[in-house]
Amino acid sequence: MDFTRYLKEYPDEKGYFGKFGGAYLPPQLVPAFKEINEAYLTICRSSQFINELRRIRREFQGRPTPVYHCERLSRKIGNCQIYLKREDLNHTGAHKLNHCMGEGLLAKFMGKKRIIAETGAGQHGVALATAAAFFGLSCTIYMGEVDIKKQAPNVTRMKVLGAEVVPVSTGLKTLKEAVDAAFEDYLANYEDTIYCIGSAVGPHPFPRIVRDFQMVVGLEAREQFMEMTGFLPDVVTACVGGGSNAIGMFEAFLNDPVEIVGAEPLGRGEKLGDHAASVTYGSEGIMHGFNSIMLKDEKGEPAPVYSVASGLDYPSSGPEHAFLHECGRVKYEAVSDEEAIGAFFKLSRFEGIIPALESSHAVALAMRRAKEMGTGTILVNLSGRGDKDMDYVTEHYGTGENYMDF
Ligand SMILES: *Cc1c(COP(=O)(O)O)cnc(C)c1O
Repeated sequence: MDFTRYLKEYPDEKGYFGKFGGAYLPPQLVPAFKEINEAYLTICRSSQFINELRRIRREFQGRPTPVYHCERLSRKIGNCQIYLKREDLNHTGAHKLNHCMGEGLLAKFMGKKRIIAETGAGQHGVALATAAAFFGLSCTIYMGEVDIKKQAPNVTRMKVLGAEVVPVSTGLKTLKEAVDAAFEDYLANYEDTIYCIGSAVGPHPFPRIVRDFQMVVGLEAREQFMEMTGFLPDVVTACVGGGSNAIGMFEAFLNDPVEIVGAEPLGRGEKLGDHAASVTYGSEGIMHGFNSIMLKDEKGEPAPVYSVASGLDYPSSGPEHAFLHECGRVKYEAVSDEEAIGAFFKLSRFEGIIPALESSHAVALAMRRAKEMGTGTILVNLSGRGDKDMDYVTEHYGTGENYMDF
């Protein structure tokens, strides 16, 4: 496949990447998504919008984030050199702000007064509440009661930032019910509200909008890497939950002679329910308003999934990943909890960088590849910092002395 015109051709105007994507919506929501799509297509070409987003990225988010050469970690493994794109140094500590600031600016340009979303672990809620505070928009975040109990510090952060956190007490009281509640709110209020999705998933145009806002990661990283080394990396990798940080990184390298690999969460193992490696083990299906690859139970419903990294704990991935997998341009490999924990401790100990558990999956994949390759270079998207994971990791895995073997 030729990727020179890829960004112009995918998604098509109905939001399809090949057979994946689309917008499977209740009829009442069709006009709301159409309005967002039309506004985005106009605004994304406006120099006022582009310049304002550039200014925000520079002055508020702290972009560009650096690319960093992990010399000590690389030497421990052999001669292959590992580099990190430091999205952990983005304001609020992860890549999610890249699309939340874009979505907030879009809401502002559309004249909306309010942004809403659901959140599972709370990371998307915090990033969106940050964007709302910056733009002076009101913000409502739906969160399952079970998740509210588990993620108390993020709930407090959202409230301090001025967001209203609405507990959802239906069904299993987690992410799925929170999605339903947020959609219901949107249905009633779309005249003054926009719904802001947390990853490169959901009905068209969100997979495209989120991808476009995340592409800053890959575009910066490609240029920085070339400037540092004079070459392209041999391998580019990132962790894949819904797939936003990965798609932002991968997109810039699609037309290059570079191997691209997504790191999916293998959790405790290959059995359904023990992992969330949806591209690796899933099959085609429609969920949450889009057609993609998903993990299904025997009834064809979204299966229960698990990963030590709560941000990767989702039974599907964005439609563009399903497409890039199908056409063979991007490979997807699964990384277990144990491997990710090992990478978490090693990157901390040998580089002084404590990665998010999500990002640790990508670091683990890079370390595995570095060992196999023996030489060459690997560029990893370090999607976020690990402060949020410290308590959980130390309680369950100690402080890492048992994870120092190479
Ligand atoms: C949410 C999150 C992820 C997973 O989301 P994607 O949309 O797959 O990128 C990865 N890393 C961090 C640090 C996160 O907070």
